[in-house]
Amino acid sequence: MKQERTDLFRRAFELGANYDKQKFDRPPRTGVSRDELLSSLGGPTPENGLSELDALEALVKAAEPGLQVSTGARFMGWVVGGSHPVGMAADWLTSVWGQNCANYECSPAASVSEDVTADWLKDLLSLPEECSVGFTTGATMANFTALAAARSEMLHRIGWNVELDGLQGAPRLRILIGDEAHTTVFTALSLLGFGRNQVKRVSTDDQGRMRVDALKESLEESDTAAIVIAQAGQINTGAMDPFKAILSLLKDRNAWLHVDGAFGLWALACPQLRSQLDGVDGADSWATDGHKWLQVPYDAGFVFVRHAEAHRRAMATPASYLPVQSDIRDPSHYVPELSRRSRAFAVWAIIKTLGREGISEMIIRHCHLAKRLAQQLSQVPGIEILNQVSLNQVIVGFGDDEQCGKMIESLARENRYLLGGATWHDRKVLRISIISWFIDEAEIDGLSEDIIRLWRELDA
Ligand SMILES: *Cc1c(COP(=O)(O)O)cnc(C)c1O
Repeated sequence: MKQERTDLFRRAFELGANYDKQKFDRPPRTGVSRDELLSSLGGPTPENGLSELDALEALVKAAEPGLQVSTGARFMGWVVGGSHPVGMAADWLTSVWGQNCANYECSPAASVSEDVTADWLKDLLSLPEECSVGFTTGATMANFTALAAARSEMLHRIGWNVELDGLQGAPRLRILIGDEAHTTVFTALSLLGFGRNQVKRVSTDDQGRMRVDALKESLEESDTAAIVIAQAGQINTGAMDPFKAILSLLKDRNAWLHVDGAFGLWALACPQLRSQLDGVDGADSWATDGHKWLQVPYDAGFVFVRHAEAHRRAMATPASYLPVQSDIRDPSHYVPELSRRSRAFAVWAIIKTLGREGISEMIIRHCHLAKRLAQQLSQVPGIEILNQVSLNQVIVGFGDDEQCGKMIESLARENRYLLGGATWHDRKVLRISIISWFIDEAEIDGLSEDIIRLWRELDA
């Protein structure tokens, strides 16, 4: 039995290492169809089991052809991090350790590693020390958690306990959010009882930044308590909302400012970029991802709440059979779930490996590469860079929408890079996200050569 387990783990390691090695050469987009995957993975419910080793081999054989190489250096289609090697290694161990991260008693090491990495994260991002921190699946749940805390606090201030008395019959709150906010924030709001039609969308400028005059106008419509949701890093342009101006509008109002900074908040880790987010530390809550710029393997997100009591009130899971030690961290008190894996181990290992300097260098490198690509492409007649490239995002227009559509198709057909398409302000665009750990100058120069060659062929 013992020997079999060693063989199984050794084989899993070998298969994983093989995949990791070939991910640099493999075309990023899988060519396999859904039907093919259904036939390789499918079949009737197994009646008699296989050996563990055979089941593992069968999984790899059936699933691997359907994997997108999203952790490689040629995947730039979405804002997806590259799974840092030490994060993957620590994540393997997290599975082996099998800790349930619900509370301190269940895993002292998981609880303390969250405490420690929470402090490191606040330090790296220059967020207020008094913030409480939760470790979520991603930014969607980080936004959800922060907005639940905001809902609790804003209603608490007007004498309503939403945890006990719910939303039905509760005083109204106003929700104001930039028109170009990420779609998942609207999902989080609707889960919290703030339907899409009840949310005031504040108009934005050409980069997707909230317009301060429009926010001012909306705020002045009433004195009702408000939750304002701003953004650090628009998903297409990378633009930052004007936090300082937003905060000065909120100064004498009963309002909570939340910032969705799924990737853009990480600009705070770089002294050279920090000024883009001037004032952001004055907000009440922030959401960001680990699995984007920090390169934590899926999944990892972080929520920071200045008002720790509201955070706990909104999330705590009391039960008579669960131990409570008030001054010791029970990780479940800061996120919606009770049982979950311990995400902080991988985060801890990555921060320990890269350090403040390594993290900052990586982010700066990605931003330089984005500028380099934009600079190369903008030399060519007919290719237009449609955003101010100040972070890691580049959106590109080619002639008209039809030509742009053809470019996106040709690039997908060649399958040397995985890129995305989108519509930005009524125009079809090619979307490029430079955020994966492994992307370097050679990849960017190769990409720009491909794009220019294909455009010349199409435009001829
Ligand atoms: C990716 C992203 C989200 C959603 O994050 P998940 O980690 O996918 O849950 C929210 N907001 C912004 C700006 C994003 O880029």
